[in-house]
Amino acid sequence: LEARFAQSQKMEVVGKLAGGIAHDFNNMLTAILGFSDMLLAQHRPKDVAYKDLTNIKASANRAAELVRKLLALARQQTLQNEVINLGEVLTDQFNMLKGFVSEKSELKISTSPDLWTVMVDKHEFEQALYNLVTNAKDAMPDGGTVAIRARNVPERETQKFENREFVPGEYVLIEVGDTGHGMSREVMDKIFEPFFTTKAIGKGTGLGLASVYGMVKQSGGYIYPESEVGKGTTFRIYLPRYQADKDEEVVAPKEKKREQR
Ligand code: ADP
Repeated sequence: LEARFAQSQKMEVVGKLAGGIAHDFNNMLTAILGFSDMLLAQHRPKDVAYKDLTNIKASANRAAELVRKLLALARQQTLQNEVINLGEVLTDQFNMLKGFVSEKSELKISTSPDLWTVMVDKHEFEQALYNLVTNAKDAMPDGGTVAIRARNVPERETQKFENREFVPGEYVLIEVGDTGHGMSREVMDKIFEPFFTTKAIGKGTGLGLASVYGMVKQSGGYIYPESEVGKGTTFRIYLPRYQADKDEEVVAPKEKKREQR
């Protein structure tokens, strides 16, 4: 529970940080990128300065990417939830993700045709899927299999979540599993924290899973990682089933509250 509290506090800090400095920061980066380009045009590739300038430009581009991710995370305060058919979204995303997973690896997908609808921000969901597949890919430098599965979880099917009974109700379960290097318990305890990364500088931002976590929580869902070192990792995401007649009353006040903020 304490970890969850720290998590939400950190998310708040990230939001404030992003809102407060991202805009100014972007202007500075635009200047750095612009002047690097200008100077690059005045040098030939064999000049010593050319290589230094290329490095400056690459770093500024990485910083811009970080700002973009921070802003995306801050934007989660105002998600545009809509009723979506996950089966369709997953099928649509499949080809893009397949191309993205390296040649060495295989991407599999299985969804049931009668998948229930859920209420999520479509763009954020797609982004979350991309983040999970990116992590899976990074965990399998020598290749492997990424498997995406989706199915309905009826109320009678009790789920254990963090050693307690799962909140009753109907959920759609989306699993993203890999056959990568896995992670230790110590790492797993921190993965949803913003800025936690085990990846090399310039490779990881530590914002991917924080943003996945934010999307899932904002949708009233649960995310549950399972991992074994040397074997692989599976992320299970439970999103509540959307039923128009049942959920209308529940959804309306929530939307209102969000607007007031
Ligand atoms: P980043 O990918 O930028 O490091 P994330 O928040 O997406 O940030 O992930 C945080 C950390 O969680 C990663 O650095 C890695 O140590 C661990 N992790 C996430 N997904 C996996 C996975 N599928 N297999 C092994 N480790 C993972």
